[in-house]
Amino acid sequence: MSIKQRLAKLNPRQQEAVRFIDGPCLVLAGAGSGKTSVITTKIAYLVQECGMSARKIAAVTFTNKAAREMKERVGQLLQGREGHGLTVSTFHTLGLNIIRGELKTLGYKPGFSLFDPEDAKALLRDLMQKDAQIDADQISRVQSQISTWKNDLVLPGDALSHAADDDEQFAARVYEAYNRHLKAYNAVDFDDLILLPVVLLRDDPEVLARWRRKIHYMLVDEYQDTNVSQYLLVKLLMAERATFTVVGDDDQSIYAWRGARPENLVTLGEDFPRLNVIKLEQNYRSTGTILRAANTLIANNPHVYEKALWSELGPGESIRVVVNRHEEAEADRVASEILTRRIKERAEWRDFAVLYRGNFQARLLELKLQHYQIPYKLSGGTSFFSRNEIKDAMAYLRLLINPADDNAFLRIVNVPRREIGPGTLEKLANYANDQATGRGISLFAACHEIGLEQVLPARAVDRLGRFTHFIDGVRRRMDSGDAIAAIRDMLREMDYEAWLHQNASAPTVAERRMANVWTLIDQLEKSMERNAEDSATEDSDSLETETDGVEAAISRLVLRDILEQQAEEDDSDRVQLLTMHASKGLEFPHVYLMGLEEDLLPHRNAVEAGTVEEERRLAYVGITRARRTLTLTLARQRKAYGELLDCTPSRFLDELPPDDLDWEGRADKEDPEKKQARGKDAIAGLRSLLG
Ligand code: ATP
Ligand code: MG
Repeated sequence: MSIKQRLAKLNPRQQEAVRFIDGPCLVLAGAGSGKTSVITTKIAYLVQECGMSARKIAAVTFTNKAAREMKERVGQLLQGREGHGLTVSTFHTLGLNIIRGELKTLGYKPGFSLFDPEDAKALLRDLMQKDAQIDADQISRVQSQISTWKNDLVLPGDALSHAADDDEQFAARVYEAYNRHLKAYNAVDFDDLILLPVVLLRDDPEVLARWRRKIHYMLVDEYQDTNVSQYLLVKLLMAERATFTVVGDDDQSIYAWRGARPENLVTLGEDFPRLNVIKLEQNYRSTGTILRAANTLIANNPHVYEKALWSELGPGESIRVVVNRHEEAEADRVASEILTRRIKERAEWRDFAVLYRGNFQARLLELKLQHYQIPYKLSGGTSFFSRNEIKDAMAYLRLLINPADDNAFLRIVNVPRREIGPGTLEKLANYANDQATGRGISLFAACHEIGLEQVLPARAVDRLGRFTHFIDGVRRRMDSGDAIAAIRDMLREMDYEAWLHQNASAPTVAERRMANVWTLIDQLEKSMERNAEDSATEDSDSLETETDGVEAAISRLVLRDILEQQAEEDDSDRVQLLTMHASKGLEFPHVYLMGLEEDLLPHRNAVEAGTVEEERRLAYVGITRARRTLTLTLARQRKAYGELLDCTPSRFLDELPPDDLDWEGRADKEDPEKKQARGKDAIAGLRSLLG
């Protein structure tokens, strides 16, 4: 499609936004109104109509996924080498490129390393534990304080004067030492990717001139979620020419907790008085019903700019609200529905997205999707089976059914710690593989051999013996009685949970990991029961006996695990699982929003911190991802820290237009007085926030 044809497809306001190139431009508009479309079309316009080299254009967006999508959309508009050298990336990648280009000026050596948050935390732990006994929570707090400072462009030298209390003063001192050590390691952390370029461009006119020559035009998507440092990066690079286009929606600002400053929208107008503000009001994404729900919900938030989104796509289906008995029923419902809807609507797997507040909510859903053999892709979080604790538990299960599984043996022989070091294992492996004697036995079997005492010290042999003895004991118990109970006892006896606590950054993290392991064992049990039912209903000479039930169930789990890994490699047609945060900017024909309950959405922490408005925007983002159908689900009961808790439906459900909702499984209506009281609380909260 030529750029002229492409432009003709846009509405007059969008066209204006694309054509306006002589000054700063802000497109401020609601979800699905074509903001990202303006950016992609404008890149093509700049290249094809204005003759600008793609090398001189930088488009930045928020997530890698969004950057990839944008690249794809632009790629369809540009021909051949036209797009060569175009930068479409996240802010962090742009920052990384600047750092790479200016390593010397920054005082870094080539081959610097990028510390991920885990690396950074380990460094902080080392530094902080020098002074005193410090717990994991304190380390996390200091880490997030340092991150806040970096996002707000507060350097170590200035942090002390910004510190409000003793804790922050302590953090400021750690910040100084932390940065010094990073430098000594020739390393930068995630926040440095923006901070270092900004400081450099601000303080070094030569460097600034160099980068201004390189980048002539900038386009920024999801501008409402930029932080102070990111805004300064744009401002520094573009100040002279003021040639940039930023697009955003204040109602979709959902990263305040990570330093985003939605007020950057206002600052922009102050910093660039010539700013051309363009508003878009037609939504091209969602049905009228979905759009009305989104508009009605967000009307409960105060507004800087009023927006009135409308759609020509017709009313479409009602929004379904499905109440389930408990979280497992909820996950099962979503999975089975996707299965049937796919056939009914002749949809593809990729047409479905399931969104949730927290990654942990994906756990049960993944298991259900696998049960129905639905291909899926989990973004952001770690897939259930690739979690370390699940890999450990799976290795135990594999070893229990097959002691010759050396990989499983190696994974867990020292997990939890049994003082069996790499040296011992190497000698054990050599002994087991001993070519001279023509043997070649499993590591597990080798532990039982008398000859081992000649290659290993008695202490090491003793430790290995204790491990195999332990595993043998569990195997015997599995054979002679309740296999699942034996497995649960094993996990308790070796105190796997204590091991998780030693290795986790916070107690809650360890608890969640342990909960994952229990979920796996629950699933194993269910899988056995299902199998028993299946074989009972089939003919009675089934070859499966009672005892190999557990083995068959474990093999099925292992197979699922392998299938999951293979699925990772094929990214094409799969149901998308994402957090609402990660779903920003994306759209899907059919969207499921899970867990519409108080404490989940809005999240309990947000309610306590008085930031319900940000949660409402998050729900708005979730709802506006849907094109044709939207299903909201919730559970009446949910397990948290081993307890079954009653859940209250989310207040956001009350804020949607009742006539557009189609309820299923709703229990008796809530006591109207209680409901009113809750509404009042929310209003009072809002008022106090507004001052
Ligand atoms: P969000 O706020 O969620 O990021 P957005 O404002 O960036 O949304 P886009 O993703 O650009 O919106 O557009 C939403 C959908 O509308 C896309 O499918 C896009 O192709 C389509 N669209 C945009 N503009 C038009 C138009 N003028 N005519 C028809 N379809 C359009
Ligand atoms: Mg967009």
